[in-house]
Amino acid sequence: MLRTHTCGELRLDNVGEEVILTGWVQRLRDKGGMLWIDLRDRYGITQLTFEDGVTSAHLFEAARGLGREYVIRVVGKVIERYSKNDKIPTGDIEIHATKIEVLNAAKLPPFMIEDETDGGDDLRMKYRYLDLRRTPVRRNLELRHQMMRAVRSYLDEHYFIEVETPVLIKSTPEGARDFVVPSRMNPGEFYALPQSPQTFKQLLMVSGFDKYYQIVKCFRDEDLRADRQPEFTQIDCELSFVTQEDILNTFEGLIRHLFLKVKGVHIEKLPRMTYADAMKFYGSDKPDTRFDMRFVELNPIVKNKGFKVFDDAELVVGINAKGAASYTRKQLDELTDFVKRPQIGATGLVYARVQEDGTVKSSVDKFYTLEDLQGWATAFNAEPGDLLLVLAGGKDKTRKALNELRLEIGERMGLRDKNVFSPLWVVDFPLLEWDEDSNRYHAMHHPFTSPKPEDLELIDDRPGDIRANAYDMVINGVEVGGGSIRIHDRRLQEQMFRLLGFSNDEAKAQFGFLMDAFEYGAPPHGGIAFGFDRLCSLFGGSDSIRDYIAFPKNNSGRDVMIDAPAPIANTQLDELHIKMKHLPS
Ligand code: ASP
Repeated sequence: MLRTHTCGELRLDNVGEEVILTGWVQRLRDKGGMLWIDLRDRYGITQLTFEDGVTSAHLFEAARGLGREYVIRVVGKVIERYSKNDKIPTGDIEIHATKIEVLNAAKLPPFMIEDETDGGDDLRMKYRYLDLRRTPVRRNLELRHQMMRAVRSYLDEHYFIEVETPVLIKSTPEGARDFVVPSRMNPGEFYALPQSPQTFKQLLMVSGFDKYYQIVKCFRDEDLRADRQPEFTQIDCELSFVTQEDILNTFEGLIRHLFLKVKGVHIEKLPRMTYADAMKFYGSDKPDTRFDMRFVELNPIVKNKGFKVFDDAELVVGINAKGAASYTRKQLDELTDFVKRPQIGATGLVYARVQEDGTVKSSVDKFYTLEDLQGWATAFNAEPGDLLLVLAGGKDKTRKALNELRLEIGERMGLRDKNVFSPLWVVDFPLLEWDEDSNRYHAMHHPFTSPKPEDLELIDDRPGDIRANAYDMVINGVEVGGGSIRIHDRRLQEQMFRLLGFSNDEAKAQFGFLMDAFEYGAPPHGGIAFGFDRLCSLFGGSDSIRDYIAFPKNNSGRDVMIDAPAPIANTQLDELHIKMKHLPS
């Protein structure tokens, strides 16, 4: 190799050794008679020193001529440092350089390659290869690598086999829009990129593979947010001859293994919450259970007292912000503005403070007697110093708004500590979800999810009440994974497609291969997929999955570094038999 050691390797034990290091010039400090260079590579930083009189004049000048991010090779002797740096592992030593070779000069980088950089998002993404030189960014990818290894080792130990499935396929039903790829050899026809390997992993079960996994890229053409990318990675799994219980236990094991191996955190058995309870007590199917602050429904005690807003509401529901009675008028106004924002959509916020003497003072005192308000305090199990926050309106909308308020209060009270992890299972999801726009039912998870057998009798009259054998794993308010026990019977699958509004022909055209396969001895099976990027960002304490992807796309789905997507040449379009309707401006 061009080097004898890396820049993160040398210690006091190496003092006196002649070494060769290679790397990038991180920083150069020139004090006239003394010159220091921090030399960086993936493994760390080592200090090089040059001293007037000791170092040859020629070498001294050569060192002085180096710029930031030059790639160099240095020969020198390991010396114990006079003033040590306990912030870096190589801080006890330095190298007295005897020779420098410039392997490549570098233009001045467009932003500082430092932990705290002056580069904005766009600039860093355009020069992502430089951004990736920064230690915090590299650490994120190291974490990702560690996570991947830990996932593979756990699944290997549990007899899973990793099988790759194709990327050029036909539409998969995960509810998003497909990315499509035109086929040159089949004019007018398109592949779709997989939204997940869902149908393939089920077919692998029909093939007898028993336990499959794949760390796999999935593609969904959706509007983007901090925790969404058009291409993302799943830990995708499927198992045969299992019940829901087996799956929950196996993957709870995986998550505990990951926490222990990667973060040294011991996780207790995961609690389970039904979807119905999650909605009732947290207003969300992904409750952040790092803090309690459950919803308290107030309908029976607040209605018919002359307060029209509550009387007209389908649901009056609140939370107890413990110890927050001291919130000022200004803070309460902020919270009112917060819930009234269009994205949240509440019409107002009612509050009540439990005072030192135990009496309750509310923003709606004129409608409620002291005893009425005392009843509120009892319902919330409130103590002096507590602040009760109440919303009213349509059930679903109000729950959703109160969920946002609960998270906001949790944030303000410092209850959403990134170093605390609170995983749980949410189970018994509804099978179907009513879609106002298309005026029909959609599969809440996907169309292969099996209904709970005991709910099947509702299929004609109350299909919306059928529960599914479907489950999500939620950590700190983030859905990190989800799956279901599948339908493995052709007739039930056909019935499900009908319920979802597919005609027989449509179902056959789209998923005939799967239904055919079910006629050749399909085992009972089920599975799950974890959003791998999300898990990484959660483990790393960040809200953005982009930080954990080497080359992510921006909010408009662009890779600004390679400048994609991009127009293609007319000849290419012709080959694909594609005519542009109108050229993009
Ligand atoms: N294919 C599903 C998804 O991507 C996961 C599963 O049901 O296993 O969400």
